[in-house]
Amino acid sequence: MPANKKDKLDLHAHSNYSDGTLPPADVVRRAAASGVAVLVLTDHDSVSGFAEAREAGIAAGVEVRCGVEINTREHDTLHILGYGIDPASAGLEAALEDFRGRRERRLRAIVGKLAAAGLPLAWADVDGVSRQTLGRPHVADALVRKGAARSRKEAFDRWLTPGKPGYVGPMGPAPEEAIGVIRAAGGWACLAHPGDPNGGERIARLASAGLAGLEVYYPTHTRATVEKLKSLAGRFDLTPTGGSDFHGPKSGRDGIGLVDIPAAEAELLLSRV
Ligand code: AMP
Ligand code: ZN
Ligand code: FE
Ligand code: FE
Repeated sequence: MPANKKDKLDLHAHSNYSDGTLPPADVVRRAAASGVAVLVLTDHDSVSGFAEAREAGIAAGVEVRCGVEINTREHDTLHILGYGIDPASAGLEAALEDFRGRRERRLRAIVGKLAAAGLPLAWADVDGVSRQTLGRPHVADALVRKGAARSRKEAFDRWLTPGKPGYVGPMGPAPEEAIGVIRAAGGWACLAHPGDPNGGERIARLASAGLAGLEVYYPTHTRATVEKLKSLAGRFDLTPTGGSDFHGPKSGRDGIGLVDIPAAEAELLLSRV
């Protein structure tokens, strides 16, 4: 067992307050079993699972901190993580409630398009699972239950991505607005799963809008991607972060703690999240 087995950090995980498949307490117990010492719960457009997660963390020996992931309207996958936020901020809650309302409008439009494509879903199937935030994974799971796909991934690939019959573009805030909401709640904003940054133009733009972190360590990032991102983080003075993006069993993303953050960087991060 490596010496730091019990010192792992995971700064990106979802519960069933959004599109994760487990309650916050179960997410925390899984984290403990995987050797995670510090976990940030980052549900989409919700901080409501934090209290339950923190409580479970006390029993399980995991330090749980509050985060959030705000899905923006840009490029379908431009998500902004918020760290160090005050979960009791009234301004934050008002903004997140607005974003959740936009998600519901989007999902209703998706359900309409799927019905027109010959795949009628009951709204109760889509709306009946998450304890708070709705997202395309809830439509995907309903399609799986209906037999239209075998997994979330297949449902996304066949029906829910750009160009597919059930696709409707995101209706969330602009990235600059998401960054502003996080900063107003006392936190700092981090670009989630940036993938291959190419020239880094987007990162440069977001850095000038107040971005403070970059999710360098992420399960799908190759070694070359990590190196590119590290150098961009240095250039724009962004804190390198990392997380598993755990969503629970049957989500296709269920490796909690399965991300390697170098020990020297982990120590710095601990003081910032
Ligand atoms: P939405 O927030 O409604 O735009 O849905 C995006 C969420 O769907 C992401 O945060 C992922 O959790 C999930 N997701 C996206 N693509 C896939 C996929 N291929 N397989 C499983 N989950 C996915
Ligand atoms: Zn998600
Ligand atoms: Fe994301
Ligand atoms: Fe995520």
